[in-house]
Amino acid sequence: MIIVPDTVEFVRKDGRAYNELRPVKIKAGVLKRADGSSYIELGSNKILAAVYGPRDPQITKIKRPDRAIIRCRYNMAPFSVEERKRPGPDRRSIEISKITAEALAPSIILEKFPRSSIDIFIEVLEADGGTRCAGITAASVALADAGIPLRDLVVACSAGKVNGHVVLDLTEEEDKEGEADVPVAIMPRTKEITLLQVDGELTPEELEKAIDLAIEGCMSINKLQKKSIERKIWVY
Ligand code: ADP
Repeated sequence: MIIVPDTVEFVRKDGRAYNELRPVKIKAGVLKRADGSSYIELGSNKILAAVYGPRDPQITKIKRPDRAIIRCRYNMAPFSVEERKRPGPDRRSIEISKITAEALAPSIILEKFPRSSIDIFIEVLEADGGTRCAGITAASVALADAGIPLRDLVVACSAGKVNGHVVLDLTEEEDKEGEADVPVAIMPRTKEITLLQVDGELTPEELEKAIDLAIEGCMSINKLQKKSIERKIWVY
């Protein structure tokens, strides 16, 4: 009889269990000149986030009379991936910048700052899968570090399907070899989902499993987010 290992027994290429995150490290307040900042490592991912504002966006036509706007730029350094990445924005970075702003928006009390902008910069120094999620997590810490009033933090984590198994926090290799990647962002107090993307194919049951797993991952990372803001020291 052939015994097919179930998801629980499935061991991944890097030795992690299906529900195991890569090692996470977060530090708040790493940049002197930004109003708020943070640095995150998630496995081999290394990402800086800087926040400026609320400030005058200078461009009159983008101002909103009743609330602040969010401007977000996600950028990958040329040396962040194996083959040199051409500097400057591309389709992917424009998409990630947009979804990051949308994932963070519900957490920020934007009505407090009419006619102003909150500017978020996410710089990926090294990438290994899951950078949009790690970027959102870091940006939320940077917003808190800037003293911007928040309803809650936003924390993000991805889950997906690799070799038929639903697993947490895919590496770049798993992302490429796997069948699906599901990035999820939540506000942990209410577990309200502020980002849900599905790249690939999953059954409805697998999707539900992936979302649950990603939320579990988010809750673990959120503990580190909170500690990093309280203590301004390395937390992991
Ligand atoms: P995410 O980083 O959020 O998982 P993607 O699924 O688009 O976003 O990318 C998965 C991984 O593929 C990235 O984390 C990175 O390691 C790698 N990658 C993305 N863009 C490039 C690129 N232009 N060149 C090489 N590798 C890339």
